[in-house]
Amino acid sequence: MGGVTSLNDLPLRDNLRGLTPYGAPQLHVPVALNVNENTHGIPAAVADDIAAALAVAIRTVNRYPDREFTELRDSLARYLGHGLTRNNIWAANGSNEVLQQVLQAFGGPGRSVLGFAPTYSMYSLLASGTGTRWIAGGRDADFELSPATAVEWVDRVAPDLVFLCSPNNPTGTPLSLETIEAVYNATDGIVVVDEAYAEFGPDGSPSAMSLLPGRERLLVSRTMSKAFAFAGARVGYLAADPAVTDALRLVRLPYHLSALTQAAAVAALAHTPEMLAMVDDIRGQRDRLVSELARLGYTPLRSSSNFVLFGGVEDPRATFEALLALGILVRDIGISGHLRVTAGTEAETTAFLEALEGLGRQ
Ligand code: PMP
Repeated sequence: MGGVTSLNDLPLRDNLRGLTPYGAPQLHVPVALNVNENTHGIPAAVADDIAAALAVAIRTVNRYPDREFTELRDSLARYLGHGLTRNNIWAANGSNEVLQQVLQAFGGPGRSVLGFAPTYSMYSLLASGTGTRWIAGGRDADFELSPATAVEWVDRVAPDLVFLCSPNNPTGTPLSLETIEAVYNATDGIVVVDEAYAEFGPDGSPSAMSLLPGRERLLVSRTMSKAFAFAGARVGYLAADPAVTDALRLVRLPYHLSALTQAAAVAALAHTPEMLAMVDDIRGQRDRLVSELARLGYTPLRSSSNFVLFGGVEDPRATFEALLALGILVRDIGISGHLRVTAGTEAETTAFLEALEGLGRQ
């Protein structure tokens, strides 16, 4: 064997040729505000409780875990309310895996999934990985998505699945229940509402969970990565008709959720009020970002999530690099004139705003 093997030398599937893997930089910097994590740590008392649950679970780790993760589904159903029971709930290693399983079951070769760009970058990659055709629909002004625009796209391309990100990443913009209902009525396919950031919406803002009764093709996914500060544990889930969870059982790997993951998630959910106490603080920092960015002359979009997309950035790459040199990592998601920043702790958010102000408008 001589030389260095490249991807092009391998008999890779044709539809994966030329693709780039998901690659948000993982740099060790003092202020990392680039991947919409919850930058607040888990409260110490809760961490102790989770550690105690893990200490118990590790003693039986010689056995395969509960393949049906029953206790976790019960905990998630209790957390979600809306009259949901364990039969409505599915979970996997992050909502990325949940969405992948949805595409494995309902997408695949000869099928298509419609999303509304710019949207979460993993959707198109998950589509490629499962051989599903990705169709990027468009949005209205300010990246909003009206029922009319969404339905026009559904009518035009007749997709097998529609992915609706609510609120949308990377724009932060919320999505109305009217748009979700209109899309559902316009298609015979699967409609997925990705509510990864739902807990950061205004108090009392309605969830697509409220639309589930009588809509067996509607799937609402969530994650513990954001509001629950559990990104490293990898726990995502969805609520849907029990028939949908039966479909996902056909494609999941046996025992896909480790006993340690299940124990940690159940212990965390038992402390829901403490775990969610940080959400209020994060919403406050998000609102502060929106008002301060506007004061500095930028054009932040309205946000129902834990991050803000702001326009008016002359040279996003240069501003990204200048902030990085000061130890602050934000996200250049390739939308011209825009950057995205996650709401951090008060100190982190202050560091970002002061650094940006110090750079002057660029
Ligand atoms: N959906 C959206 C909209 C996201 O932004 C993310 C994470 N950035 C995910 C899903 C996946 O999250 P996880 O796999 O950590 O649950």
